[in-house]
Amino acid sequence: MRVSVAAADSVVIISARMDGNGNHSAGDGANFEAARRDMVARQIRERGIDSARVLSAMRTVPRHLFVPFERVPDAYSDEALPVGDGQTISQPYIVAATAQALGLEGHERVLEVGAGTGYQAAVLSLLAREVIAVEAIPALAESASERLARLGYSNVRVEQGDGSLGFGLDAPFDAILVSAAAPAVPQPLVDQLAEGGRLVIPVGLTDHQELFRIVKAGNRTIEQRLFSCRFVPLVGRFGWR
Ligand code: SAH
Repeated sequence: MRVSVAAADSVVIISARMDGNGNHSAGDGANFEAARRDMVARQIRERGIDSARVLSAMRTVPRHLFVPFERVPDAYSDEALPVGDGQTISQPYIVAATAQALGLEGHERVLEVGAGTGYQAAVLSLLAREVIAVEAIPALAESASERLARLGYSNVRVEQGDGSLGFGLDAPFDAILVSAAAPAVPQPLVDQLAEGGRLVIPVGLTDHQELFRIVKAGNRTIEQRLFSCRFVPLVGRFGWR
């Protein structure tokens, strides 16, 4: 199938391959690129995310290659999606808003707690020098690691373990993102921030949280509440047991 669509300032050729069952293939054709542009314009830029670097990263990472095959048609929709093991890939807006809140310029070492599919880590890898992503569930850690390597994200490393303890071997971090809901801010994560480092973390109850940005300034921290959100629970030593 080949369809020409007149876009604002160009002509986009949409070519979708079909298999014998009439299903679209999961390749990164122009159709997915158009879906990504649309996602960024409507779900992200229109809602106030204005970092050119973040918008560009969101336009670049092929989200449909991070979701289960049966979810590919919904990959660019305005929602979190189930990815197995009771876990989810965050809504695109949340991925972009948390990335922007980290204030990355390109030289940072970043820790993500809750790698899940590896999608957010892939986005962060385009914004920072190095990303270490910790995932508690072994099967998810393994598939995220394999997927990121296959897609060429060479500055991301996935580690299996309890990220509520941070990742002391690689500390300090210029930025830490917790992609799961914590009952309180885990002290090890604050301890593992570099001077001036930013921790972005949802804190609250298991079904409702506030997203916080915590900046380390000398021996104190500056806390800022960003917005209400809903993440899956952080487990582990400093999570919900
Ligand atoms: N960032 C992910 C989505 C996160 S979902 C993505 O882009 O796909 C939250 C993830 O946090 C889940 O995979 C869950 O298993 C993981 N998690 C929860 N508690 C954790 C902990 N203590 N350490 C590491 N990972 C944890």
